[in-house]
Amino acid sequence: MRTYLHFDLPTRTVERETRSGEQLAYAGRYYIARTLVERDVATVDPLSADNPLIFSVGPFAGTNFSNANRISVGCKSPLTGGIKESNAGGTFGFALGQMEICGFTLNGVSDDWVVIRITKDGEITYDDATPYMGKGNIEAAELLHEKYGEKVSLALCGPVGEYQGLVAGIAFSDPENRPVRIAARGGVGAVMGSKKVKAIVADKVKMPTFSDRKKVMMGVRDYGQKLNADAAIQALNSRGTAMVADIINHMGGLPVRNFSSGQLVDREKETLKMGGEFIREQNLQRGGTPTHACMPGCLIQCSNIYADKDGKEMVSPLEYETIGLLGTNCGLSDPDDVALLNQIANDLGIDTIEIGATLGVLMEAGQATFGDHVFMAAALEDVRKGNERGRLLAQGTHRVGEHFNVKRVPVIKKQAISAYDPRVIEVTGISMMVTAQGADHTTGNLPTFDCKDKTTEELAEASLDVQALCAAADSVGLCVFGRSVTNINFELIMDSINGALGTELPIDFIPTMGREALVMEMQFNEKAGFTVADDELPAFFYDEKLQPTNKSARHHAQAVNDYRLEWLSKHNVTVNALPSDSPY
Ligand code: SF4
Repeated sequence: MRTYLHFDLPTRTVERETRSGEQLAYAGRYYIARTLVERDVATVDPLSADNPLIFSVGPFAGTNFSNANRISVGCKSPLTGGIKESNAGGTFGFALGQMEICGFTLNGVSDDWVVIRITKDGEITYDDATPYMGKGNIEAAELLHEKYGEKVSLALCGPVGEYQGLVAGIAFSDPENRPVRIAARGGVGAVMGSKKVKAIVADKVKMPTFSDRKKVMMGVRDYGQKLNADAAIQALNSRGTAMVADIINHMGGLPVRNFSSGQLVDREKETLKMGGEFIREQNLQRGGTPTHACMPGCLIQCSNIYADKDGKEMVSPLEYETIGLLGTNCGLSDPDDVALLNQIANDLGIDTIEIGATLGVLMEAGQATFGDHVFMAAALEDVRKGNERGRLLAQGTHRVGEHFNVKRVPVIKKQAISAYDPRVIEVTGISMMVTAQGADHTTGNLPTFDCKDKTTEELAEASLDVQALCAAADSVGLCVFGRSVTNINFELIMDSINGALGTELPIDFIPTMGREALVMEMQFNEKAGFTVADDELPAFFYDEKLQPTNKSARHHAQAVNDYRLEWLSKHNVTVNALPSDSPY
């Protein structure tokens, strides 16, 4: 059994609901989609009191089940105007699980800025947030730990979220209490800011209870063994997500100078300093940490702690998407420059994909030259201050592109495209087009899928199949980086879930739940006013050939959506109704 908390911020009251069994399996992204559809909030103002902000964890939260402690945050996105689920690693989901809390919803708006404290004894208090207001996340976290101790985990609304900048995420503590694991996408931090909740502080206690603890522990062991034996996981473990830069640069799909080229360097002639191999070696020589677990128990440990020339920590983590959008997309070629900007962005608690694409568009508009990292740092400081330019940039790529009348603006549904040029990385491109989440590679990333001579239908099928599995992983709190093991071991995962919850959910529970989550998200977006036209790529992807591959985009929204309907019917998923077997 677990507790779900319904906060009513105006009255500072909380209603506690007990949940058990199947209810706890339909968590994270699924729970968010279902709740937002049922509460019929598709047409509300996303920064108003009517937009609920949901935090949800999966059935293994609080344990050392590898990569299974992610926390999902959901609401109507103020950036896209559509549905949003943004998830993060760190220890906050772990802490909630340990207190046997499966999630909570922030409803309404608080009269004053508050810190919500949730203790292991079930006590909930609202404390004055004044001492932390306007501070960067690093300083705010230090002050919060001074007050509440080290054995707590934080969810933080940064200084940009305070003024409802749409690039703002929600930052969660990592295992060493750095507030750097960010649910970054879609402006969830702006929604937290609109509610005047500066921080939520949760106790870390001990392993929670389970229906069959022995079965869960067997799952922990077996899943861990399979991860350790998997080649893809070993590669992620040794070089981190930065290794993706080596692969995508080689394929010619890296965003370079506002998506005007697909390759930063020809590796036959030059070292790719922005790649995983170089970064790992340099980081090792400097005394940095090339592998790091962002949450307790994760055996993949794809994260890192990046050190400067003197061996001092510069930033943790330095990840591929940041290297791509805040780095190569802005014309940078030295990881030290990206690391510096990444650290500022982390302190602000903002989305490095969205702000990187925004700065690329600013350079395209002639406000600076590509590669000018001094300009970029100054722009981020404006975002911190919230001055006129800062508040404009904090509105994200689409709105800044409109402001400067820029033609080449890399967004889908007003959200910046991730570091996979859709002209080359086609399946991921289709996922970013059709997902209700706005351009987001994590909804269905297949970067190395062989797309040559394949039709839109064939690639859309690959995209939708992986989208369903990603949605399911996001619904049970599993990090998608474990998918090379997760997606071929449903029996192991389901045995563990059933052991944890005392349920008898079938083996096809995972893909079925994933498909249903996708359908509910699409229902939400339709109600919010989205049409097929919103799924089309920006025109320049169709009009401009990308070098060195000489490819332009060849898939259009109508054809992708036509196939999507076929795919849903093939899997017997009803498009216009909520799944009938609601556990709530
Ligand atoms: S695989 Fe990486 S991102 Fe995922 S939980 Fe582990 S350390 Fe975090």
